[in-house]
Amino acid sequence: ASRRVVVVGGGVGGCTAAKYLRKLDPSLAVTLIESKPAYTSCFMSNEVLSGDRTLQSLTFGYDGLRRHGVEVVQGTAVGIDPEKKQVQTAAGDTFGYDACVVSPGVGFKWDAIEGYDEKVANALVPHAWYAGPQTQLLRRQIESMPEGGHVIIAAPPNPFKCPPGPYERASQIAMYCKHHKPRAKVTILDAKDAFSKQGLYMEGWRKLYGYGTEDSMIQWISAAAGGAIEELDPSTRTLVGLVEDFQGDVVNIIPPQKAGAIAFAADLVDGDWCPVDKRTFESSRHKGIYVLGDASSAAAMPKSAYAANSQAKVAAAAIVARFQGKEPDDPTFVNTCYSIVGEAFGISVAAVYGFDSHTNTITPIPGSGGVSPANASPEIRKREVSYAHSWFKNVINDMME
Ligand code: FAD
Repeated sequence: ASRRVVVVGGGVGGCTAAKYLRKLDPSLAVTLIESKPAYTSCFMSNEVLSGDRTLQSLTFGYDGLRRHGVEVVQGTAVGIDPEKKQVQTAAGDTFGYDACVVSPGVGFKWDAIEGYDEKVANALVPHAWYAGPQTQLLRRQIESMPEGGHVIIAAPPNPFKCPPGPYERASQIAMYCKHHKPRAKVTILDAKDAFSKQGLYMEGWRKLYGYGTEDSMIQWISAAAGGAIEELDPSTRTLVGLVEDFQGDVVNIIPPQKAGAIAFAADLVDGDWCPVDKRTFESSRHKGIYVLGDASSAAAMPKSAYAANSQAKVAAAAIVARFQGKEPDDPTFVNTCYSIVGEAFGISVAAVYGFDSHTNTITPIPGSGGVSPANASPEIRKREVSYAHSWFKNVINDMME
């Protein structure tokens, strides 16, 4: 009988793994279990906030994977039995496997900020850290805020999904306000003292939004300066900090994060995230289960779509090698994250990673990556926006078409 692989989670990691397993060995029976009928990508969802994109343009069905011979099941995995090698779903079905891939993304620490819970997030103070109805709610709130209004974004502590994301979000909102509400302010309250691509962001903010002047549209308040938030009063949209309180017309809290719920139910976590053998992404806690993407503990790689895509190919190759009785090769990984700071102003960070078998770590290969140059020409900045858009098409195509 053919070997069976069950993949939990039809996001970047899960889809890429399912597709590449079938490409590497068409004899495999691959089943993908995903809660939702279609995938809506978080990457590029900040552009919905500026009005540059619709949510529809970020939503993709699973027919492409079906064409690759993947069986796609809509359902939610609620448990994994590593002894019996079975995945259980909320509907009561069980799926037997020879290898299991788990890529459920992040969950939120709902007890971290007093007064902030799922109900408040759905109705009043969206996190919009999964693209969907909350992204549209946040967009509507920004559109209907008065001229001269105040948008507050509370950015989470490390590690979290998409390290440059909160700052791209502030930029995209400022880009909209510049045209439609030029006296508006966007304040980022940060639980950290530094952030990804900080120098490049600040250069962009200075050029585009008056950063550093009295009149700046964007303000960033580090944790040390009182940016860390402890409590929300949803009725007045007031955030309670250690130094002072902040009141906004629109408030977007991006909560602290941990691995998705199934990782906890299946005993795959150590603390907040899932430890893995970095050579194969097999769980350090249960053999035969491979944990990818945001849920895995994969430093020095960031929690990004490109990272999940790269890890999925490594895991798929390792699973196929082991089915053939071979030991997997040492892997390399790639990541690039583009951010669109304003019209014709893109920036990026890129890295190629190797694997150190002595320390079971993923380490950047010296000289292989870096951030885009400081003070680059307008042409280079403009080109990075088109690179960002073509990267988006390529990664969607690579994961599910
Ligand atoms: P996801 O893509 O989140 O997929 C998880 C899937 O699993 C979901 O479809 C979910 O429904 C499903 N699922 C969860 N639990 C279960 C279960 N129990 N049963 C069945 N299904 C389940 N990354 C980049 O590389 N570049 C960018 O420019 C970029 N921009 C971003 C901007 C924003 C605003 C945000 C929020 C993120 C951005 N990212 C970006 C990060 C990127 O979206 C994630 O890192 C990536 O999606 C991780 O892939 P994943 O497979 O781990 O999880």
